[in-house]
Amino acid sequence: MEEFLIGMSAGPQADAELMRQAGVRWVRQGFPFPFADRVGGQMTETYLKAKEAVRRWRAEGFRVMGISPLPGFGGGGAWRSRAPAWMGEIPSDEFFEAYRATCAFLASDLADDVSLWQICNELYSRVFAGPLSLPRACELVFEAAAGLKEGNPSCLVGTNMGGINQAYYMLGRLYGDARREMLDYCGVDQYFGTWRGGGPETWDGLIEEWSEITGSRLLINEWGYASEGGLLTEEERRQSWNPGDFYVCCRFHKFGHAWGAGHTPEVQAEYIRETFKVFHRRRDKLLGCFFYRWEDQEKCWCGRSDCPGETRWGIVDLSGRPKPGYYAFQEAVAQYFG
Ligand SMILES: [Zn+2]
Repeated sequence: MEEFLIGMSAGPQADAELMRQAGVRWVRQGFPFPFADRVGGQMTETYLKAKEAVRRWRAEGFRVMGISPLPGFGGGGAWRSRAPAWMGEIPSDEFFEAYRATCAFLASDLADDVSLWQICNELYSRVFAGPLSLPRACELVFEAAAGLKEGNPSCLVGTNMGGINQAYYMLGRLYGDARREMLDYCGVDQYFGTWRGGGPETWDGLIEEWSEITGSRLLINEWGYASEGGLLTEEERRQSWNPGDFYVCCRFHKFGHAWGAGHTPEVQAEYIRETFKVFHRRRDKLLGCFFYRWEDQEKCWCGRSDCPGETRWGIVDLSGRPKPGYYAFQEAVAQYFG
């Protein structure tokens, strides 16, 4: 049977041996813009660092999914471009052309080590898309796909869609276009039970429906469950039209949703077991899944260490000790995908 990709988002200090023992075979590695002044010009320090990180993952026996450079980021504040000025204003045609050339270079330069690509991230969201409208964001996906295929015709490419409502637009736009042939998978990330209502069972319906809409295999680019964090009260919930909003979470230090008995390490473990069951049942529609994430983090994007928003998603804690979720992950992978 074809390999089912078991992947992980992990920091560079992650314990590779512990990851291998958990059954992790793939890691997700972001890439910054590689050229400081022009295509083929001086390499940026940050690119060389990312390349070095890939070399380390490969030496440890992992395979790598690359994320093409994020045009910009607006988490915790105003959106800022990450592209060097020579690439042109986002979303100008000049920038699109430079982005495509950048992707062609990355796929070729990393051809021996990166065989799977995620184009940008969550372009439905203002946090990542900034001034890119949804139609322009979809165009950027095709430009990037063309560039990646130019650089390495055998690599697999797709993008990662999350926000349910806007994602339906992207599904229609991307998979209703003749250029869809360039996309090898339809990527999705969702956090049912934390950022959204639902739970493992919600994955089941989504996989069924998105496969039907797109006629494409799906890749779960991110999935997971926060192991700590309270729930918004009714009063706090009324402060936003969307209680799953990151900013509401960071303001009250609570989530809008929970699954089962709430956000605890034990429930996280149960969530992992149940979701792997669903992925196993839907295996024929999936390329694989990348868990979010390996380790807890010191600080949320809001800068606070006592905010659950981004801090307790790991299956190992801050000192690298496995939580119940680690063992659940290991057992489920061995049982269903061993
Ligand atoms: Zn926060």
